[in-house]
Amino acid sequence: MTDVFRCRFAPSPTGYLHVGSAQSALFNWLFARSTGGQFLLRIEDTDAERNRPELTDNILEMLQWLGLDWDGEPVHQSDRFDAYRAAADQLIASGAAYACDCTTEQVQARNKAAGGPPGYDGFCRDRGLEPGPGRALRFRTPDDGVTAWDDVVRGKVTFDNANLEDFVLLRSSGTPTFLLANAVDDDFMGITHVIRGEDHVNGTPKYLLIRAALGLVDQPQLAHLPLLVNEGRKKLSKRRDDVSVADYKAKGYLPEAMRNYLSLLGWGPPDGVEVRPIEELVELFRLEDVNPSPAFFDLKKLDYVNAEWIRRLDPADFVERAEAFLTDEAEREALRALGSLAQERMKVLSEMPEYFDWVHGPADDERSWEKAMKVPAAADLLDGAIAGYEDAPWDRDELHARFMDLAARLETSASKAQGPIRVAVTGRISGLPLFELLVHLGREETLARLRAGRARLG
Ligand code: GLU
Repeated sequence: MTDVFRCRFAPSPTGYLHVGSAQSALFNWLFARSTGGQFLLRIEDTDAERNRPELTDNILEMLQWLGLDWDGEPVHQSDRFDAYRAAADQLIASGAAYACDCTTEQVQARNKAAGGPPGYDGFCRDRGLEPGPGRALRFRTPDDGVTAWDDVVRGKVTFDNANLEDFVLLRSSGTPTFLLANAVDDDFMGITHVIRGEDHVNGTPKYLLIRAALGLVDQPQLAHLPLLVNEGRKKLSKRRDDVSVADYKAKGYLPEAMRNYLSLLGWGPPDGVEVRPIEELVELFRLEDVNPSPAFFDLKKLDYVNAEWIRRLDPADFVERAEAFLTDEAEREALRALGSLAQERMKVLSEMPEYFDWVHGPADDERSWEKAMKVPAAADLLDGAIAGYEDAPWDRDELHARFMDLAARLETSASKAQGPIRVAVTGRISGLPLFELLVHLGREETLARLRAGRARLG
């Protein structure tokens, strides 16, 4: 027995880290770090076809990106076939498991003929088949009684044993199923807390039965986290929703924001302050406070949290991270000059090109043009700006003051009056503060664009 809590994140190699898996990893990590325990990693790669490094690399990379460091070396199930074989032998010897040579088709045909429920009908239970190649190994589930546990998140969960089929432990190919390997390894790794997605609730009675049959008495605490759902209250799906953490990284979500946001799915700090450093989340996290109800993966809220985190970055750090989203050197130069103004406004870093593409010329945006130029004084505003800026000292306050005079003269509100100038210069109705932007662009280029805009207006 250990007095240190141990939990684990146990991904199967899927080629990407699903946001739901990331939430499981994060809650395990928060639990370990908040209790002074260990956060272990296990790669569930018993499936030979999936046992390719490229299917695990992205998962590990994304855990690192999120800052979820694990303790020790990851355990690979593909290294542990002997242990699963030994556990299977033990279950055969005690009579808890038996060999079965039924094909799926045979089982289905019998179920159909009997009009019974789907699932295995126990056909080979008492046939006394010798285990061996070509035969699966099944667990003999009890016929009556219940299997139950006190879930840290869900409270008491109970399954009738009569409803549990005799499930497979070893396939006819001899490879272990997830259920066997998972139960054996949680014991091997000394896991005290199994924290995982709610999709594993239905497999848990089988997990507990295997453990009991192997004589493993120190049962870990089980905590099944809430399902993540989309706007339509449907389980997130790869087809409909962005589910890969790597996609969010590519879109310019910060790891600080992503993990902060994921921590709020099914949990929240007791004082209600949601956007805060990870150290504080660690301090406040309690597994017992996780809510079992499905959690809404709210993209708007994620944007809000990300914008908050962008604003919190040290300005130099912001520029460095934002630069990665610009490929053009002139745009990067503008970013370095006007970075803090962008930092206050952005939701995701992939918006960068939109904020800086004006360096090459006005963006081609018909709707912005229509909207800005319908101001009655549009032509006069452009004429006035051209005249005023020909000899203005080229600094922000001066450009602003001349603009304010012009707007007053033309009896147009400052916000409306900016439109035609902004769109003539940048092509867009919104963006960085106008006068700082003009300073960066320079007099000659600004005047050329204002004249071109005026000509287009006719
Ligand atoms: N390998 C399982 C999965 O990726 C996780 C199993 C567990 O956490 O117990 O869903």
